[in-house]
Amino acid sequence: NSKENNKNGYSFYQFSMGDETERNILLVNDLRKAVLKNELFLLYQPQYHMLGKHIDGVEALVRWNHPKYGVISPLEFISLAEKYNIIDELGEWVLKTACIQFNQWKKDGLILDNIAVNLSKKQLLNPNLIVRIRDILKETHFNPAHLTLEITESATVENVAEITEVLHKIRDMGITIAIDDFGIEYSSLSYLKLLPIDYIKIDRAFINEMEQNAKSEGIVKLIIEFANQLNLDVIAEGVETKYQADMLKQFECEKLQGYYISPPIKSSELKEFVFDKVKI
Ligand code: C2E
Ligand code: MG
Ligand code: MG
Ligand code: MG
Repeated sequence: NSKENNKNGYSFYQFSMGDETERNILLVNDLRKAVLKNELFLLYQPQYHMLGKHIDGVEALVRWNHPKYGVISPLEFISLAEKYNIIDELGEWVLKTACIQFNQWKKDGLILDNIAVNLSKKQLLNPNLIVRIRDILKETHFNPAHLTLEITESATVENVAEITEVLHKIRDMGITIAIDDFGIEYSSLSYLKLLPIDYIKIDRAFINEMEQNAKSEGIVKLIIEFANQLNLDVIAEGVETKYQADMLKQFECEKLQGYYISPPIKSSELKEFVFDKVKI
C-alpha cells in the first residue's frame, strides 16, 4: 500500500488488487456508520462563467475521512455505497449538507447562482427520490432554482423511459439537470434530444487531449456546437491549461471547471477564492 498525493491536497490511500476484497468488507461496514459518525465531508469545486468572467457556482464533491485509512476518494466508496444500498442515505446527506452550506455562504455575503450535486444511477431508480429531494429542499428552505443535479451519461443509457420520467419530475420542481462525463458513453443523439436536461458536462478525457490530439479538440468543438443547437449549456470538466481555456473560450463554452480554475476546496476557502480570483 502506498499513499498518493493528488492535487486536492489530500493523500488518498491506495490499495493493491490483492487486499481489495478484505478492504471492501471493512469499508462497507464502516461506511454504514460514516454518516452518523460525521466522517463524510464535502469539498467544493468552483465553476467559472466565461461571459460573466466570475465564479458563479460550485460542484459539491464528497470525501470520507476514514479513522484508519485517512481521506478516501468517492471513486472508491460511491460504487460500494451503490452496491450495498448505502447510496440513498449518503446521497441525502450530501444534498442536505450542500444546501445548508449554500445558505451559509449567502449569510456570509457570498452569493452564488448555483450549487451542483451528483446523483448516482441507483438513486435515480429509487421511487422515494422525488419525495426525499422535496423534503430536503423544504427543510433547508432552499430555492430549487439554485440547485443542479448531475447524472452521468452512463446512467441514462439504460432504463431510458424510467430515467426520463424521473428527470421530468426533478425538472418540474425547478431544479437544473446536467449530464456528467458526457462523450465517453455511446448514446445516440436522437435520444439525448428527448431527455429533459439543461447542461452537458464534457468529460475531462476530451479536454485533457485537446492540445495533443486534433480529433479530441474537434470532438469538444462539435459537442459545444451540438449543445447550442439543442439549446443546452456546456461545462468543460478537467480544464488544466491556459491552452484549453483559450480554445474553449473560442468555441463559446459557457463554463469551465478544473484545476486551471481551482481544485475542489473547503467551504471556508471559497469566499476568499471567489473575491480574489484573477479574471482569465
Ligand atoms: P465528477 O462528478 O465527474 O467530478 C469531477 C471529478 O474530477 C472530481 O473528482 C474532481 O476532483 C476531478 N477534477 C476536477 N478538476 C480536475 C482537473 O482539472 N483534472 C483532473 N485530473 N481531475 C479533476 P472526485 O472528487 O474524486 O470525484 C470523482 C467522482 O465521484 C465524481 O466525478 C462523481 O462521479 C463521484 N462523486 C463525487 N461526489 C459524489 C457524490 O456526492 N455523490 C455521487 N453519487 N457521486 C459523487
Ligand atoms: Mg459531477
Ligand atoms: Mg464528470
Ligand atoms: Mg449555449
